[in-house]
Amino acid sequence: MSDKEQVQSTSKLNFMSWNELLQPDLILEDSILSLTPDIIQQYRLKGLVLDVDETLVSIKATEASAELRQWVEQTRQVTALWLVSNNLSDMRIGGIARSLNLPYILGAVKPSRRKLRQAVTAMNLPVEQVAMVGDRLFTDVLAGNRLGMFTILVEPIVEPGEAVRSYPIRSFEVLLSQFMGTSIPAKKQKLTKHDKS
Ligand SMILES: [Mg+2]
Repeated sequence: MSDKEQVQSTSKLNFMSWNELLQPDLILEDSILSLTPDIIQQYRLKGLVLDVDETLVSIKATEASAELRQWVEQTRQVTALWLVSNNLSDMRIGGIARSLNLPYILGAVKPSRRKLRQAVTAMNLPVEQVAMVGDRLFTDVLAGNRLGMFTILVEPIVEPGEAVRSYPIRSFEVLLSQFMGTSIPAKKQKLTKHDKS
């Protein structure tokens, strides 16, 4: 990173308060499968960086569902796609990415911006035309907002038996972020915050 870039991103971070950093630009009431080409084009998004665990597949899934394959085939017609996961397993995440024929990055350490920047750079798109799509506020949304991306929060994909383990973490994040001033609706509903442009 150049000195100039360092200064710019540091000053942007200083200008954004914690509640702004945790505020998604768009909250979907359902899983990523509800992110349609219409919505993508409405926000003029040319690229999507996708979280994998519980955004595309449940935490234990080793392959993509038929619905997800169909979603990827439809979505790649209108926007570039990259997978960026905090997971380190090339066997599992890499296997899913290869089956979907999508580029991927492992071990992203979100909310670090480094690997997201790598994906956005590879897409060769302005950062504000790329959305970070994920199920978690304190990793996906925080990382995306820190980089100046459009951010989309989706409902997690969980196996019925996994809901007990998974939801409290996310619910805690939502509660904490509300306490910090982020407006995440208690009841699921689609909403957008002010336009970033
Ligand atoms: Mg996730």
